[in-house]
Amino acid sequence: MGSEAGDLKDMTILGGGPTGLFAAFYAGMRGMSTRIVDSLPELGGQLTALYPEKYIFDVGGFPKILAKDLARDLAVQGLQFGPDVILDEEVREVVREEENVLRLECRSGTYRTRTVLIAGGKGAFEPTALEVPGYKELLGAGVHYAVKDPEAYRGKRVLVVGGGDSALDWALILKDKAERVVVVHRRDEFRAHEASVQLLLQAERKGQLEIRYFSEVAEICGNGRVESAILFDSRTNDRTTLEVDAVLTFLGFKPDLGPIQRWGLELKKNRIVVNTLMETNLPGVYAAGDIVGYEGKLDLIATGFAEAAIAVNNAVHRVDPKARVTPGHSTNMKIFKDK
Ligand code: NAP
Repeated sequence: MGSEAGDLKDMTILGGGPTGLFAAFYAGMRGMSTRIVDSLPELGGQLTALYPEKYIFDVGGFPKILAKDLARDLAVQGLQFGPDVILDEEVREVVREEENVLRLECRSGTYRTRTVLIAGGKGAFEPTALEVPGYKELLGAGVHYAVKDPEAYRGKRVLVVGGGDSALDWALILKDKAERVVVVHRRDEFRAHEASVQLLLQAERKGQLEIRYFSEVAEICGNGRVESAILFDSRTNDRTTLEVDAVLTFLGFKPDLGPIQRWGLELKKNRIVVNTLMETNLPGVYAAGDIVGYEGKLDLIATGFAEAAIAVNNAVHRVDPKARVTPGHSTNMKIFKDK
């Protein structure tokens, strides 16, 4: 754990994804005392949480890099000036204590800061629900949208719903534990990695799991626990009932801005409105990355990096009006002399 509650920092960065980590680097380089707060248990944002094993091809200087490797290197770069890092934490409220001091109310305490940079990506992620009878009623009683302990499915009959990476990854893991795995997908093409699709088809050929294409769940049945699921074929409308112990739904995630929506920020189409200095309508609160919206905005890591640099350098000038906005070239900076 990092920060002592009440410890006043020059900048608090909300979000430890690529934009937040690059901002932490820039803030440290510019001599700001910094803290990072993230709701996830690990730094890296979507890179580590959503697609660690995927290659990224459009980050300057890396012809090809695995998302988890980029996250690791961003953390090395971003943490080199020693920001406090507070994980598994969410800022619930931002209160202005003085003109240039903000108080962040979190579950674990209160954190004071001169500026805030919101780099919250697409916000918190809400799993997409299956809108069928029985889903809500049996959620947690055999219906799950995440697997906490694969061993819990040993010897069980499992329905896996979805055709993305989560569905295929789990179907492939559970086929070696469960008595029966049936993958139910609403069309006949998968959006998961091609390599995973090939492994799935191979497992089907070996009789290790079943795949139902153009198949959807019409209802999940059970008395206090999942007992069966009614499936229908979207081409023929034929219905079949399958006795199962668990229905695992991997239907993707919907971005949710969460408490940020209540801070009085100007929002447009679920994005934070910023000016060209990456300032929000709240003085001292900046935003960068996928969470901001402006004409011409691109949701790219490259754009997030640039926005982070603009936000931090302007925040430096806000905290110390004598400090220049332009950082100068890192090649000539004293701070790197011994590095
Ligand atoms: P996803 O890629 O959004 O896939 C969701 C799947 O659920 C899709 O196949 C979709 O069908 C299906 N679906 C959505 N709503 C449905 C509904 N109402 N009824 C039936 N089916 C429905 O979600 P994800 O698999 O959780 O992956 C999320 C992100 O994390 C992706 O970018 C993924 O690549 C990444 N991820 C990566 C890894 C890895 O790199 N190993 C592992 C997990 C996740 P359609 O295809 O027809 O739309």
